[in-house]
Amino acid sequence: MNQELENRIFHTENVTKVYHTGSIDVHALRGVNAEVFKGEFTVLLGASGSGKSTFLNILGGLDSATDGRAWFRDQELTSMSERGLTRYRRDHVGFVFQFYNLVPSLTARENVALVTEISRDPMSPEEALERVNEDLGTTTVVITHNAGIREMAHRVIYFADGNISDTVVNKHRVEPADIEW
Ligand code: ADP
Ligand code: MG
Repeated sequence: MNQELENRIFHTENVTKVYHTGSIDVHALRGVNAEVFKGEFTVLLGASGSGKSTFLNILGGLDSATDGRAWFRDQELTSMSERGLTRYRRDHVGFVFQFYNLVPSLTARENVALVTEISRDPMSPEEALERVNEDLGTTTVVITHNAGIREMAHRVIYFADGNISDTVVNKHRVEPADIEW
């Protein structure tokens, strides 16, 4: 197996998500093919409503896809029972919805796929992110519009209208210490 495949911790194939609200179908994801690599820091970007949270929830085992497939390593998330997903979340996923609980959540786990949504709260993100970087083997996926954090990422995945419109690999990552908040 080549190095890239070996390091791939998540991937999806044609994942769709349709929310049915009343008589309206909302197509939150329209066939997403994505990859997340072990130890990498990935940022999800895109306009509000473009599908970032839905994608992250499926990756984190919090929500199910309508169609398509998603894997964690060689385990298919989209074929797991509720029980299997609960075990997956417990063993492999850390969720952080605000900066203030980022640090405790992180230090409690190893080899974690950390699924986060970062608020614009300017309180101590620098310290929090330095901890993420120092924790080897941790894979982090973050939704943030913070330009500084984006420059620290290995990879930035851009969402637009339920699809990935672009993926950018940062050749030169900015160190946390060099970021202006
Ligand atoms: P983002 O995180 O990029 O803002 P979301 O994934 O939250 O995008 O939402 C994608 C689309 O799906 C939006 O149109 C949103 O209104 C809709 N959506 C998200 N969650 C739900 C839900 N639980 N029920 C109905 N519609 C939803
Ligand atoms: Mg969202």
